[in-house]
Amino acid sequence: MTSPRLSTEAPGERFREGGLPRVESAFAPGLTAAVTTRELDFGRHTESRAREVSAAHRTLLEWAAVGFDLVVGGSQVHGTRLFHADGVRVPERGGRRAPATVRVAGYDGFIASRPGVLLTVGIADCVPAFLAAPGRGAVALLHAGWRGVAGEIVPRAIAALEDGLGVPAGEIMAWWGPAIGPCCYPVGREVVEALEATAAGARTETWLEADGATARVDLRAALTVQAEAAGVQPGAISSSPLCTSCDRRFHSYRRESGGGGRMLALAGYPRACP
Ligand SMILES: [Zn+2]
Repeated sequence: MTSPRLSTEAPGERFREGGLPRVESAFAPGLTAAVTTRELDFGRHTESRAREVSAAHRTLLEWAAVGFDLVVGGSQVHGTRLFHADGVRVPERGGRRAPATVRVAGYDGFIASRPGVLLTVGIADCVPAFLAAPGRGAVALLHAGWRGVAGEIVPRAIAALEDGLGVPAGEIMAWWGPAIGPCCYPVGREVVEALEATAAGARTETWLEADGATARVDLRAALTVQAEAAGVQPGAISSSPLCTSCDRRFHSYRRESGGGGRMLALAGYPRACP
């Protein structure tokens, strides 16, 4: 039996308190890449939590006002559709301080190659997967639970960056943010089989641990195998070591039996000062 290869410390990863409480990584020069903590709740706008969720969005927009004209997001559906944000027209700012917001439904991935656009996805255990090509200002942010990994949303985004924006896979840098770790992620046979059917199946020893009758999977390690198979350089991939279920600084779908809040993952190149 082999143990899954656990994630290593990401370069520059650090927690920031106040303003927008978040953990962020400096994995790609010039890119803002962050995941909020449980101090904010970006969950569903239910009646019981309406005030908290509205306050979280206000905090986000205040923080994003420096550097970003547009915040793009929407509710995720565990699919693999990608939304290209470059075509979104940014409304005139006028006297407004806050950036404009655009919400689109049915997308688990967002791509942009324009400074001033902040991409967002909601998460609580699923992997926030960040891809960036710093020399070209291109960025992709994906929401990858086991269905997204099985649907190869990261290789799809790499292909979209290559085909749509002319970014060679060899120039892409990747960071997998805080997510549920193999420590807290026993799964059924159907999950293992779905992941094995992808490029990750070539190196199961890096992400699959058989623990008696129970299988545990490391989704971030599976993403690493997929990204490398899609042409990303091994040295260009880093991963947060943080488990959202173990680490109570985060919301966790599993730990809170689905009833808890949601974090927001954020990615974008801020525009330069005028
Ligand atoms: Zn854990």
